[in-house]
Amino acid sequence: MVKVLLTGGSGFIAAHAVDILLQRNHDVVFTVRSDEKGQKILSNHPGTPSSKLSYVIVEDIAQEGAFDEAVKSDPPFEAVLHTASPFHFKVTDVKKDLLDPAIIGTTTLLKAVKKNAPSVKRVAITSSFAAIINPNGHPKVYSESNWNPITQEEAVANPQNGYRASKTFAEKAAWDFVEKEKPNFDVATINPPLVLGPVVHYLNSIDNINTSNERVANLIQGKWKDGLPSSGIWIWVDVRDVALAHVKAIEVPEAGGKRFLLTAGYYSNGEIASAIKSNFPDLADKLPQDLKSDKPDDVYGIDNSRSKDVLGIKYRNLEESVIDTTKSLLAIGA
Ligand code: NDP
Repeated sequence: MVKVLLTGGSGFIAAHAVDILLQRNHDVVFTVRSDEKGQKILSNHPGTPSSKLSYVIVEDIAQEGAFDEAVKSDPPFEAVLHTASPFHFKVTDVKKDLLDPAIIGTTTLLKAVKKNAPSVKRVAITSSFAAIINPNGHPKVYSESNWNPITQEEAVANPQNGYRASKTFAEKAAWDFVEKEKPNFDVATINPPLVLGPVVHYLNSIDNINTSNERVANLIQGKWKDGLPSSGIWIWVDVRDVALAHVKAIEVPEAGGKRFLLTAGYYSNGEIASAIKSNFPDLADKLPQDLKSDKPDDVYGIDNSRSKDVLGIKYRNLEESVIDTTKSLLAIGA
């Protein structure tokens, strides 16, 4: 058992991380932007004492010093999970809305831990496949050795670049911090691609669905009835496996100093739609006629062996994930 600070407790991935941390008997303090969100999460864990689950407010991670107080605790923290970071494309100013919260959010947290939480031994950070992918030319096989070569100039060209750059620059800043500052703790990063999976009902509404589940929402609401858009990056992972990987990343000593490319394998929008069609016949009339996969035959390879060997992750398959995602979206009004 360790005492863990989890940033961004109201997020899609973090909601599952809370559950897995508690199941594995860790004590959790999560950060949220408002009392309203904090209370909502607590009230959905009835019977969990405040010694096991509580929250602190961190309103804006883009502010220097945002975590200076949050990292102080009695008894003190031994590990930190940093998931908070903007993941959406509704931005007007890429620097202010995406880059600053991602990069400053990471560095100001690491500074605060070094300064005010000397008992922390491990900080696990949610990075992304966005920090690995090279959209200019895919390698034969992606692994943790690849880095997105995106530049500062490209970063501000559009929100999609902005998001990918925010994850790349934030992760780089974390590794640089460790190298230069030689803190008492080490770092591990979790680098998932598209994350699908059930949302928790108490934090979500169908009109405000998290970015990565939007495609499932679009499908079951008939928004793609006229045809499937391009699938995007081709690889995916279930949110529960991502959450477990975060928890393993603070439990397993050998995880320190490592990146983890987390993926269950390939997907296409056509395969997601087919899984919905065969498991929810009532939704068939919301789906387009043509459910063909647009994944190219020569799609890049992926090496997820480190996540299995070091963290022991056993991946859920696409059909199970799509079924559980769909059920959860129907339950919140889709
Ligand atoms: P969510 O949007 O559900 O969660 C993002 C969390 O970050 C929310 O709790 C949000 O708080 C918080 N946050 C964002 N900006 C700020 C800010 N300026 N100050 C304080 N808190 C902030 O997304 P996910 O759960 O999907 O994402 C979690 C992490 O996983 C992110 O780091 C994301 O980049 C990464 N990731 C996600 C993938 C996916 O497919 N879902 C894939 C790869 C990586 P609030 O809700 O109050 O705004």
